[in-house]
Amino acid sequence: MIDHSTVQQILDAADIVDVVSDFVSLKRRGANWIGLCPFHNDRRPSFYVSRAKGICKCFACGEGGSAVNFIMKHEQLSYPEALRYLARKYHIEIQEKELTDEEKQAQSEREAMLMLNEWACDYFEKQLHETQAGQDIGLSYFKERGFNDATIREFRLGYSSEGYDDFYKAATAQGFNPQLLFDVGLCIPNERGGGHDRFRGRVMFPIMNIAGKVIAFGGRTLKKDKDVAKYVNSPESAIYSKRDVIYGLSQAKREISKQDKCFIVEGYADVISMHQAGFKNVIASSGTALTEGHIHAIRRFTGNVTEMFDGDAAGVKAAIRGVDMLLKEGLSIKVLPLPPEDDPDTFVRSHSYTEVEDYIKQNEEDFINFKAGVVLKDAKNDPIKRTAAITDVVKSIVIIPDEIARMVYAKECSNLFGIDEQTILRQIKQYRGKAIEQWRKERQQQQERQRRMEQMSSADAVPQPPAMPEELFEPQHPVDHVAAPAVPTVASSNGITVQEREVIRLIVNYGMCYLTDTRYEDGTVRPSTVLEHINNELTWDMMSFSDPLYRKTFEVAKQYIGSYYKDLERFRKGLDERVAQFVARESERLNQQEPEALDSAALINAQERIKNIVDAKAGVMAKNELQQFSSSYLTKVLCSLDDDDVRQLACDLVSDNLPQLSKIHTQYAVILEEQDKLLTLVPDRLYNWKNAILQQRINDTKSSIAHARPDELPQLMEHLQELYNLRHQLAAIIGDRVVNPK
Ligand SMILES: [Zn+2]
Repeated sequence: MIDHSTVQQILDAADIVDVVSDFVSLKRRGANWIGLCPFHNDRRPSFYVSRAKGICKCFACGEGGSAVNFIMKHEQLSYPEALRYLARKYHIEIQEKELTDEEKQAQSEREAMLMLNEWACDYFEKQLHETQAGQDIGLSYFKERGFNDATIREFRLGYSSEGYDDFYKAATAQGFNPQLLFDVGLCIPNERGGGHDRFRGRVMFPIMNIAGKVIAFGGRTLKKDKDVAKYVNSPESAIYSKRDVIYGLSQAKREISKQDKCFIVEGYADVISMHQAGFKNVIASSGTALTEGHIHAIRRFTGNVTEMFDGDAAGVKAAIRGVDMLLKEGLSIKVLPLPPEDDPDTFVRSHSYTEVEDYIKQNEEDFINFKAGVVLKDAKNDPIKRTAAITDVVKSIVIIPDEIARMVYAKECSNLFGIDEQTILRQIKQYRGKAIEQWRKERQQQQERQRRMEQMSSADAVPQPPAMPEELFEPQHPVDHVAAPAVPTVASSNGITVQEREVIRLIVNYGMCYLTDTRYEDGTVRPSTVLEHINNELTWDMMSFSDPLYRKTFEVAKQYIGSYYKDLERFRKGLDERVAQFVARESERLNQQEPEALDSAALINAQERIKNIVDAKAGVMAKNELQQFSSSYLTKVLCSLDDDDVRQLACDLVSDNLPQLSKIHTQYAVILEEQDKLLTLVPDRLYNWKNAILQQRINDTKSSIAHARPDELPQLMEHLQELYNLRHQLAAIIGDRVVNPK
């Protein structure tokens, strides 16, 4: 479907840091980038991205891979879909044949639904901009609300006409299956076997996932009729789960990440108005209470959340209700009550950018303080109500994961309520004790259940006991956390498999790196790569990988030797040009800095010196770039293969190297360190492997000798001696590692 050269072009263009940054806020650490893992509920950055290696990896949950893997997993796309995604991102044209009807049907349900929604979104946009009713009703409504054209286009607002089944007819005429229209919720089936439109006579707000794909719609009626629901939303579907989606996140994510802060508002219009007013880090929970899914999504981009709400009594109550959830997840929460007559939409429209900014500065308040103020005001001087109010606030503090934050709040509470700080701390301790006790009980019960089930049937899978609630046992200081290196997952205790893995690891990581000059049988001397060297050695010794997956990976890698040399040629040409440009630029720069020469000898002298400096710099640049190209070539190819097993193995093997890298804060880090040692490392690992094979044969022979008949012994002893000799020879070749036979 996509030809090889296009795939290669896509892989070359896809910068892993750039691709991951669309979804995860990354910070530089040494040679790598780190961030919160999008694949599990990550509290401290466990997700590593290596630009040099072109891969990412979570050291907590193990997910990761190349840019293609990341997109496949994150966006739940198939392999070719992920490639198409990247091609679109990097403006690489893919020549594709039109889908046949059969292929359309064969598309997964999810992809079909996304395709339909994309088409529908486009349809509603056209209705808004290009039809009379759309302009008269929809567009004039948006303009009335102050939305400009750019904003309307950016949020892809649309209009759905009044007709009973206008959309249904248009979509089915386009070839979309009616069942799909019902599944995604755009239409509703009727008794006559047809269908009608869900969003009749409404302005349309498409709801997008983080990647910007339309997964649902919200439609607002413009009628004053009380019988008509003001807002209608798409029902839940295979692609839309209300619990996980935040409105506006795809438009806001970059700004949230940049400012390390986000504002939460209530409705679509609030998000859009604020965005247009210049506050682009704004999202909406769309009327539902915040869920863990929402928080998980927000936390990828920031840990700082400010909730904006209407300043009336109902708004305040609603604000307080949702916030405990955010605290529990370790987010830092502020609140921003607006004047009672305003919501975010009306507020930003009636004030200038600086006025709004000033208002935020002056009125943004820490949540705990805000809550304490509200409950105290309610309690007035009633002692019972006061006690209840204090307990209420303390309960909010109890769930904050960070101990230092809890202590700070306890102190503030003691000031606010005029109560001894120690009393509050005791109360906090007591509640946390209760929570931990509760968790212990639950765990005991579940272990008991598990034990009984295991007795009944040892084969059946049983649910795991609940994980220790992390928030109760967080370390006391938010240390600059470095994820523990993952334990290598070598399942077999067989020495041979371990050694094979090391060899295949070197191939995946450094396969195309230059290793040494090799004299071939025809007498020529050619430079050979790590992969070619290992291949020669294995051919010479008639060895191959015993592990089928390693063998397959090795075979696949060898297929790329030819294309590597071709691509290297191409890369060298580009590099020569870049080096020439660099030399010209740098010479000019240095010449300008040079003081005026007094005579021609001094001039020649100066030019000589400049030339030497520039040449040296250019040499280093060329060498580094070539090394980078060679060392990442095979890694990129293998980590992006269509074959799931080989790709997964390659990604695992590459990421074996990552944790060490992260601890070293220099730019050249350990990649170069291991790469520089290849000349000893590769023969050493091959030796270990051969030695492991010999050792096993020796063990086998020894055990044969133990059980042999007397007449078989001489031959076996001779065989054993041969093996010892071989091992000795092998050790002699490697030089520094003589092994004495016993
Ligand atoms: Zn993870």
